[in-house]
Amino acid sequence: MAKNALIIGVSSQDGSYLAELLLEKGYNVTGTVRHSTSFYHENIKHLYGKIAIEIADLIDLESLAHAMREHKPDEVYNIAAQSIPADSWTHPFYTGEVTAIGPVRVMEAIRHFAPNARFYQATSREIFGNIQAESATESTPFDGNNPYGIAKAYAHMMTRCYRESYDMFTCGGILFNHESPRRGLHFVTRKITAGVACIKNQVKNMPMNEAGEPLIGTDRKLHMGWLDSQRDWGYAKEYVEAMWLMLQQDKPQDYVIGTNTTHSVRDVCKIAFAHVGLNWEDYVVENKKFFRPTEIKELKGDYSKAKQDLGWEPKTSFEDLIKLMVDADLERFK
Ligand code: NDP
Repeated sequence: MAKNALIIGVSSQDGSYLAELLLEKGYNVTGTVRHSTSFYHENIKHLYGKIAIEIADLIDLESLAHAMREHKPDEVYNIAAQSIPADSWTHPFYTGEVTAIGPVRVMEAIRHFAPNARFYQATSREIFGNIQAESATESTPFDGNNPYGIAKAYAHMMTRCYRESYDMFTCGGILFNHESPRRGLHFVTRKITAGVACIKNQVKNMPMNEAGEPLIGTDRKLHMGWLDSQRDWGYAKEYVEAMWLMLQQDKPQDYVIGTNTTHSVRDVCKIAFAHVGLNWEDYVVENKKFFRPTEIKELKGDYSKAKQDLGWEPKTSFEDLIKLMVDADLERFK
């Protein structure tokens, strides 16, 4: 019999890829979106009619309990969060409410209404914050240094706590940055690839940047934060496979998912602009307005345990990832 999967936050980058993967595997898929007067979700418009949609919010326990009662999931994936680290300084309470406490509401709803369901929690590499290490494994201590990372650390520990206290099948996937053409425009890689497309295609109807200004201003420049900031970047479509694999194991455990390599924001700029025959230095400026109050340290995601237990490893190179994102944005911003 087909299994039932419930994806909390299906309109996200990861939620949409995960829904595709689970459909391919023959699951009945239900995805939650937040209540809104408009019903348009770019990332899942191709999935309407193939998945069931439920309205639920991480701050509304009853909506999550209703989703459990109604859809009787075998697997629950909590992908939703206030997911923008930069916004977590301006919205620390909301970030705590949604990103830290929200997953606990999901686990309580599972505990009472779908006690046999397996649970995946989207933990982030930001839990390690400023840790002085070259790479991180599942046992690296947490050192979150922004409200988002600290909220994710709380949710991750609660995921463990529910596993140990209630014998529930709960896993925390400690994912390093992962990108795709479906990444939100306010995240650095997408900001760059969209910026490249807007410059190359001389787009008039410009998308907005995170400050609510045209992405490319009248100076024809792309205004960025700290260009030497380093991240471990992989391809989101591959990372959702790891989420699914975690819930297929005999024993629930936490896993680090990354590529074990890092690159700078400057590297993203170089590759993205060169891909359309432009020199990034002619278009990109560093603007202090976009600097974070605290930066996280360069850190690699050591995915050895995932490779050994899940047989998972990254396939798409950093360069190919940036190029495929630029190609998608050239199509989108014509
Ligand atoms: P996105 O930023 O694309 O999406 C976030 C999702 O959360 C959206 O579907 C959003 O809904 C939903 N959401 C926000 N607030 C609420 C709420 N109160 N109740 C219910 N849903 C809500 O996320 P990604 O796909 O990039 O990431 C998926 C998850 O993985 C997130 O939890 C993120 O923090 C985490 N993560 C991501 C990494 C990455 O590099 N992408 C790295 C490590 C962890 P709406 O569409 O209505 O806004």
